[in-house]
Amino acid sequence: MACKTIPFYEFRPGLFEIDEFDCVSSFMVVGSERALLLDVGTGIGDLKWVVENRITDKPYQVAVSHNHGDHIGGAGFFDEIFIHPADMDNTDEGTAPTTEFRKRYAALIRKREGKYYAYDPDIDIRPWPHEPTWKPLEDGHVFDLGNRKVTAWYCPGHTAGELVFIDDLTHTLLCGDACNCNWLLNTTLAPTVRECAEISLKALQRIWAMRNQYDAVYNFHHDFRGFGSPLNPDVLPNLIICLEKLLDGTVEFKEIPDALSDNGATKTVALYQDVFISAMGGSIREEIQ
Ligand SMILES: [Zn+2]
Repeated sequence: MACKTIPFYEFRPGLFEIDEFDCVSSFMVVGSERALLLDVGTGIGDLKWVVENRITDKPYQVAVSHNHGDHIGGAGFFDEIFIHPADMDNTDEGTAPTTEFRKRYAALIRKREGKYYAYDPDIDIRPWPHEPTWKPLEDGHVFDLGNRKVTAWYCPGHTAGELVFIDDLTHTLLCGDACNCNWLLNTTLAPTVRECAEISLKALQRIWAMRNQYDAVYNFHHDFRGFGSPLNPDVLPNLIICLEKLLDGTVEFKEIPDALSDNGATKTVALYQDVFISAMGGSIREEIQ
């Protein structure tokens, strides 16, 4: 039987962070009529059971921030999933939600954290029983949950179809991997890495310009913030400055340990205060030239 003890925490009224054993966080927004699940994790244990039996008995929809295997690895355990059209297909070997990717990623996190978790990788990381129905989710789409509305906003950069979400009841920005201290720039969005960085900068500036709509930012990994606690509010503006400095040639580069390597490899990052940017594949320093 799959593991049903996935930790979760209601950090604001009707707003839950679900911690998939330090791999990734999913979020659940529960309104007076309906609920919305944001991301479905790497697919460890039985998230669907936890959502339906421990978090809410209301009808709910499922939407995802982007198409990486740590965020949509559990997709095949749900029937219908909203995703931005640009992220609808993921055939990239390094990030697609295959059972191999899911097992490899979970093993990396277990090794990195050095903890015992309540799941058994052999039993709890199962192949999908079916392919879900993927439904297109466009910029500005509003999920009306009754007493609260959650709006999806397009924010490409980390992936071509990354979405962030704003809950109007609690003024919370739920930003997937669009904003992280350890931020990964997707280098396949445009013909050059410079153009990819420009697209990301513009997208993040738009979300930053909406800051009167939110007072807390939650990214979907909690390794640079406490579980249930918001991200340092400087991270989003610092990420924007870091991208600006990367583009105008004034950013500082540094070689740091790669947290996702299992053989002690390092990677080059562009650094500004508490934010560092690396290129998904290749060195950001070489790629930006
Ligand atoms: Zn990602």
